[in-house]
Amino acid sequence: MKTTVAIYPGSFDPVTNGHLDLIERGEKMFDRLIVAVLKNLEKEPMFSVAERVDMLREVTKKWDCVEVDVFEGLLVDYARHHGAGVILRGIRAISDYEYELQMALMNRKLEPRLETVFMLPSETYSYLSGKIVRELAQLGGPLNGLVPPLVEQRLRAKVS
Ligand code: ADP
Repeated sequence: MKTTVAIYPGSFDPVTNGHLDLIERGEKMFDRLIVAVLKNLEKEPMFSVAERVDMLREVTKKWDCVEVDVFEGLLVDYARHHGAGVILRGIRAISDYEYELQMALMNRKLEPRLETVFMLPSETYSYLSGKIVRELAQLGGPLNGLVPPLVEQRLRAKVS
């Protein structure tokens, strides 16, 4: 029998209910789902990689087949190393499509056996991004329903 290992890569700065919506859908579809936090040295993140991983582990601990890890370098190398056949990505709106298409086709060129699977979140989360959540927190706006309570606490602590 085939075991499908999928990787869900992203910055998760911080994890939002939109990410969790996708993780929950992926968890039902794949045998193992590795949520991989990109260690991107160029960006100025709000949360360190360790903080992001810690929040992700906490909010995904109810799903046995979900793991949280960190990766740097080429995603196709990371996928090969973990025996993954699928990359999971989310499409919120048409604006995501162009970049996602480019990435998926480049990854296919680098590793033809790796399939990118796109999922749509519930429409409730289709406007939600890490960036919008960080901005809202910085301006003292309401965050309930957008991020898990633990993430809301960490966001409030970060901007206080
Ligand atoms: P962002 O910082 O834009 O929230 P990430 O780099 O953490 O995004 O995103 C990782 C993946 O999760 C991307 O495929 C992105 O499209 C997807 N994603 C992010 N937010 C959502 C959402 N609200 N609904 C569905 N997919 C999402």
